[in-house]
Amino acid sequence: MKYSFCSVKLIRLISICLACLFLTSCTMGLTVVDERLDTIDTEPVIEATKETLPLYPHGSVDSSLQQVTNVKTAPRQLRLAVVGDLMVHGPQIRAQQQSDGTYDFHNNFHFIKPWLQSSDVVVGNLETTFAGSSQKYSSYPRFNTPDAFGEALFEAGFHGVSTVNNHTIDTGSQGFFRTLTVLKELGIKNMGTRSHDTNEYWQLFIHDEIVLGITAVSYETPRAYGRRTLNALIIPEELKGLINSFDYHTWEDDLVSVKEQLQAMKEAGADITAVMIHWGEEYQPQQNQWQETIANELAAAGADLILGSHPHVLQPVRPIQREAEGRTSWVVYSSGNFISNQRFEILKRHEPEDGAIFFVDILKDPVNGSVEIQDVSYQPTWVHRYWKNKQLVYEILPLTEALNQPEEYNLISSDSLIRAQNSFERTTTQWHNLSMLPLPVTEP
Ligand SMILES: [Zn+2]
Repeated sequence: MKYSFCSVKLIRLISICLACLFLTSCTMGLTVVDERLDTIDTEPVIEATKETLPLYPHGSVDSSLQQVTNVKTAPRQLRLAVVGDLMVHGPQIRAQQQSDGTYDFHNNFHFIKPWLQSSDVVVGNLETTFAGSSQKYSSYPRFNTPDAFGEALFEAGFHGVSTVNNHTIDTGSQGFFRTLTVLKELGIKNMGTRSHDTNEYWQLFIHDEIVLGITAVSYETPRAYGRRTLNALIIPEELKGLINSFDYHTWEDDLVSVKEQLQAMKEAGADITAVMIHWGEEYQPQQNQWQETIANELAAAGADLILGSHPHVLQPVRPIQREAEGRTSWVVYSSGNFISNQRFEILKRHEPEDGAIFFVDILKDPVNGSVEIQDVSYQPTWVHRYWKNKQLVYEILPLTEALNQPEEYNLISSDSLIRAQNSFERTTTQWHNLSMLPLPVTEP
């Protein structure tokens, strides 16, 4: 398209300058940029700005300025989605193996994907390692999962995972470092472990000019010969300083570094900070005293979100008021299992089949820079496992939808349907009745 009038060129030039100034101010102060998120993030802003450019001769300076102002003052929004333990047990490995010997986990996430992809940042706890096929694929007590699981997580919409938990060194140093490489190649950020002690344990996620900082930390199992352990394995010398973990007996000293990480994330521009923490007791529906004390301590240190995992069942959610700052921290003691083979058939208990996506809506005023957690909500999930063509099928179901249209979500057998209904009851009891969260959201 050609423009023959000087005035049009001038208008265009002014508008481009305004847009450039705006975009520059948007990105100032952010030191770490997530390439994948940034691509997604900046798009709406650029699009909105493009509209304000007088690409057509009928555009006027006044209306363009007005639109730029509106875009500048509109509240910024980020929705975070948090899930619990991502586990792969032996029957899952076998179920996902294809006829050509390769692995494919995509179907696990088929029904839940819209719920993840409607969020701007999606994180969970990766309770396994990607040591590759040089070590045999394995599950409890030492987890080694095919890389294809990571690919499925990426495709499902995950942006980040905590890599620190009691299974971090299940496959030794080789598996430890390879897990980081696999995630990096996939474009999934990891928190809580690092390949070099000059890297950080935390990551920044940026969307719509809101910066979310997330770090991750795990409890350690009791020391052996005075040395720190995970899953009763002594942390190898070469991994010292690469794993963000704490001993329950020395947690006050050990968590000093987590407080420093909270501070460092803020200094790097984080508007909201989160600690993903692996803690508590397996299969306990209530948090223990350690969890409460540590949660209070982290909230006092400025953590806005404390996101727990490890118990494999849902534990309560609770707000902690930080009166001095006028802010509220939210603690999710445990988000349960997002996917696993821990279920009634194995453990004689149903609760480990339950999970939830915990949503956090963050709002930022671009004019005065104030940030608040506007809302928290959740979607109950359940791992549906059934037989099809002599193969086990695992599908994570969004229960508000699946219970409304059971057949569309493959809830065909009466046993599956009843179990899904009971799961919904348990989760809403735990998170609605006991934790006083609103009822589950019904739309992604
Ligand atoms: Zn664990």
